[in-house]
Amino acid sequence: MEGINHFGDEFGPAKIIHVYEPRIGLRGTLVVDNVAAGPSIGGLRMAPDVSTEECARLARAMTLKNAAAGLAHGGGKSVLYGDPRMPADRKEQLVRAMACALGDIRDYIFGPDMGTDETCMAWIRNEIGRAVGLPSELGGIPLDELGATGFGLAHATEVALRYCEFSLAGARIAVQGFGSVGIHAARFLVQRGAVLVAASDSGGAIHDPAGLDVEALVATKRAGKGVTEYGKGTPMAGEELVRVDCDIWVPAARPDVIREDNEAGLKAKLVVSGANIPITSGAEERLHRRGVLCVPDFIANAGGVICAAMEYHGATQTAAFQAIEERIRTNSDAVLSDATRRGILPRQAAMDLVMARIRRAMSWRRWSIY
Ligand code: NAD
Repeated sequence: MEGINHFGDEFGPAKIIHVYEPRIGLRGTLVVDNVAAGPSIGGLRMAPDVSTEECARLARAMTLKNAAAGLAHGGGKSVLYGDPRMPADRKEQLVRAMACALGDIRDYIFGPDMGTDETCMAWIRNEIGRAVGLPSELGGIPLDELGATGFGLAHATEVALRYCEFSLAGARIAVQGFGSVGIHAARFLVQRGAVLVAASDSGGAIHDPAGLDVEALVATKRAGKGVTEYGKGTPMAGEELVRVDCDIWVPAARPDVIREDNEAGLKAKLVVSGANIPITSGAEERLHRRGVLCVPDFIANAGGVICAAMEYHGATQTAAFQAIEERIRTNSDAVLSDATRRGILPRQAAMDLVMARIRRAMSWRRWSIY
């Protein structure tokens, strides 16, 4: 695994906490990375194969994302070991127990992530009084239902296309991970003229060069089926999605899906990251050298956390979506124009922008981390 040293660098992590309760099979980890800008916000991820390392890297991604979005929040993340499709009563018990175990850690605010949703956030709010991404009945803005991250990603894509030699009209897109982020990214991009030619989920991928019907594919998923059961097009193995002929590739699932060992197969000219940390740094370097533009995750997929932070501070849904559009468009343009001017990777330009902000926030504190 590449990425940050989770034993610490100048930005954090401030805390790594493992929680364990054998009586109910609870095993989880919280990483509070950096709180210079304010209490950390970051999702609770539930999956059988999470790790402390993944949690630390995702917490850092939240520090960068929240700083890029200009939020009064630092970055953190929590992971819960287990299959999110377990029986609902057992999942509720684990999520509530995780919240109770971390109730005293006031510099972390839970949000939804892979394997958790607004119902989980309602349970957490009920236990410890703090969570974002809540159901609307609790004052929440249902960010996954509305597609806050996909909406932001579509705006990042539109801005990125100013730096590419093709337009969104007729552009062929492939989406890895047809879940909350992937579905809405596809919806918003198709509404703006793109054609979805391939999509995948954990069970495999579906490909149709003539275009997939996004709503029919969503209906397939809502019926509890996988994308390969869509009925038209060609089903294929999930790993083959990287090699699909397309113009824009949207990772919206797991980390490290584009690596040095498969990067050469990618045919797209633009990668806009819906997932967190989906491209290894070596692969990103190679993509840059062969002219593939990569919009960094913490710029392109900030829609969800902008929405969540706005909810936490009592904003309306309309104000939240305006903020997403404005901040993501401004940041995408700032990063890509700086990268073009200096001939550097967009990720480097984005890192320079946010690290300066975080260092400044840290300079006003008595201790740099606490
Ligand atoms: P989700 O659980 O709703 O959807 C994930 C999708 O990915 C599912 O369709 C699942 O079947 C699929 N998937 C899982 N493993 C896969 C694999 N190996 N290959 C292909 N597909 C696979 O999750 P989500 O909320 O859409 O989050 C997806 C990614 O986006 C995560 O990396 C998350 O951290 C990131 N993200 C989410 C948000 C948000 O607002 N939900 C915001 C920013 C970033």
